[in-house]
Amino acid sequence: MISLQSVNLGYSNIPILKNLTLHVGKGEFLGVIGLSGAGKSTLLMSIIGNIRVLQGNYQVFGYDLSSISKRELRLLRSQIGFIFQGYNLVNRLSVLHNVMCGMLKDLPMGRSLIKLYSGEELEKAHEYMQIVGIEQLAMKRCDELSGGQRQRVAIARALAQEPKVLLADEPVAALDPKSAVQVMDVLRKVNETYGVTIISNLHHLDFAREYCDRIVGVASGSISYDGSTHALQGST
Ligand code: ADP
Ligand code: ADP
Repeated sequence: MISLQSVNLGYSNIPILKNLTLHVGKGEFLGVIGLSGAGKSTLLMSIIGNIRVLQGNYQVFGYDLSSISKRELRLLRSQIGFIFQGYNLVNRLSVLHNVMCGMLKDLPMGRSLIKLYSGEELEKAHEYMQIVGIEQLAMKRCDELSGGQRQRVAIARALAQEPKVLLADEPVAALDPKSAVQVMDVLRKVNETYGVTIISNLHHLDFAREYCDRIVGVASGSISYDGSTHALQGST
């Protein structure tokens, strides 16, 4: 699904990450670890075509990121869900409304206010709210929720896109330990239920070890480790 061969990535023309070779297949749950500033976010953002490919071959869903058209890039992005540390919800709207926003593939946000949803779409939204455990909060405004609840809304919204890949940038960094565990449990459930590939930046190695089946370490501008969680446990 995602394949990098000797790739350099950077802002303007200065490479931040060099000589990356990485292949990610369907259904994997990948944890990306590394110190702050190592380039984890850069790596994640590059998958949605937000970072310049300075060198090498970078393919996502068969699209070559060095030569992708604007239309193809839109298509690619519509198949990738993104979860941020700061949730990025529309706070004054209800949980349900935020989840439904995920179904609007190409429409600008404002259109969601007047769009009517089908019964089937509503049913799907309820399925996603249920899987992340926020169904009872459907009618609450997002600004009435705790951080952990907000992050679960964000995951339900991403699911409403029916993504092939879910990218999470430090999804639990802002949460208390109990909420963090809940959110990680939800990510695992999503991975197992829908077979969605998940790539998550995590600064807690413990979470990566417990939840991911593969760990990629980023250090000194490159990939310093890539192996199964099992192998990592064996080596320490
Ligand atoms: P991490 O997610 O591991 O903390 P980042 O990918 O955010 O690391 O940052 C990697 C490096 O890229 C850092 O040195 C940072 O200063 C640099 N960087 C991040 N964003 C930009 C940008 N928009 N322009 C130039 N350099 C950037
Ligand atoms: P299909 O045979 O239609 O591909 P799947 O078994 O893949 O069916 O999925 C069944 C239902 O689960 C789909 O209709 C879809 O709504 C939901 N689903 C599948 N994959 C995802 C996903 N990645 N994110 C959210 N929902 C999904």
